[in-house]
Amino acid sequence: MTDKNFFDYTLLAPGPVSLHPEVRRILSLPMIHHRTPEFDTILHRVLCALKKVFHTEQPVYLHSSTGTGGMESLLINTLSPGDQVLAIVSGKFGERWSQMAQTFGYNVTEHHVEWGQSVNPNQIDQLMTKNPHFKAVLCQACETSTGAAHPIQELGQLIKNKSNCLFLVDGITALGAYPLPMDDFGIDGLVGGSQKAFMLPTGLSFVSFSKKAWNFIPHAKTPRFYFDIRLEDRANKNGETMFSSSVSLIRALDYILQNGFENQLQDIHRRAQFTRLFMPLLGMPLFAKHPSDSITALVVPSHLDGQKIRAHLEKKYNITIMGGQDQAKGKIIRIGHMGYINDADLVRCVQKIGLTLNDIDPTFMPIEKINSVTEESKQWLEKNL
Ligand SMILES: *Cc1c(COP(=O)(O)O)cnc(C)c1O
Repeated sequence: MTDKNFFDYTLLAPGPVSLHPEVRRILSLPMIHHRTPEFDTILHRVLCALKKVFHTEQPVYLHSSTGTGGMESLLINTLSPGDQVLAIVSGKFGERWSQMAQTFGYNVTEHHVEWGQSVNPNQIDQLMTKNPHFKAVLCQACETSTGAAHPIQELGQLIKNKSNCLFLVDGITALGAYPLPMDDFGIDGLVGGSQKAFMLPTGLSFVSFSKKAWNFIPHAKTPRFYFDIRLEDRANKNGETMFSSSVSLIRALDYILQNGFENQLQDIHRRAQFTRLFMPLLGMPLFAKHPSDSITALVVPSHLDGQKIRAHLEKKYNITIMGGQDQAKGKIIRIGHMGYINDADLVRCVQKIGLTLNDIDPTFMPIEKINSVTEESKQWLEKNL
């Protein structure tokens, strides 16, 4: 941490992300108390704006927690120990949610999807027909460890008609990055997180429950206190949060939501397109069959080590991307498209990844190739504003 470069590097991770400069300024403002008219106004505006981000008629709630806390909130507010739950597991975050559900005593069936692939809704349909007792289906909208997007709309369609089953979705790397309309897609519980597309530090999660889910909430027997959404709902209706509000983060969130947040979907899509076009030209094809716009995972050439590429890029070129986890460790690298990123960052990322490959294996990646791909990528950005 004494390395001066740590204070100014290009962060292209799938969360936390590079902060919006105005967010950095707002976070340094003097504290105000959360039980003040000034803060009440901000809270009200934020809760209204979040409904637009979720595309829901239902209230959206804030938890002072990382995204995982919001995932927990969706489970414990709707389910009881012993309930049958179908968890779609296609990577690290699917594993986490399944483990969490098991911890709370639910009877979890895991449906495994090969890393990098997206779930096939027909298979879920078959599983639900075979076992009509599932109380919930859990799925990531985007599985961040592989960069794969799941067919949330199709899954929602399936589950909508089953009155005794909820569709709970981890939208942490989808909300604000690409369209995920909660009501239209038939999502019953949806969670987002502040350190992803919202361009804030870690520390807030956002959750909402459908009308159908609200029928489950009074009957859920999982012990809950901090995340009890009934308490939060009551407090929000009085214009407050149940416990101390994360004033600084909520003030910064207010700025983000009031300043063109919806428009950034196009920017994120453009960055994803750019990455999908130019990284394969550097010899690294896409890992996910149906890649999400929020993050791109790339397959590292088999004779090279992704961990080494990641570390070299950070140390020598001041750019931070992520490697693969577990079974994908060393085999993929992951580039995030959310956060405060400009075109110069994108071009630099192409060029420096090229140079990193050249530093490690000059015959695999000659300088002329890097120069031509970098130039082509620059022209693409100018043509596709
Ligand atoms: C980042 C992320 C989370 C939340 O992780 P936290 O560290 O708890 O914020 C959950 N699910 C997905 C898909 C994520 O990308």
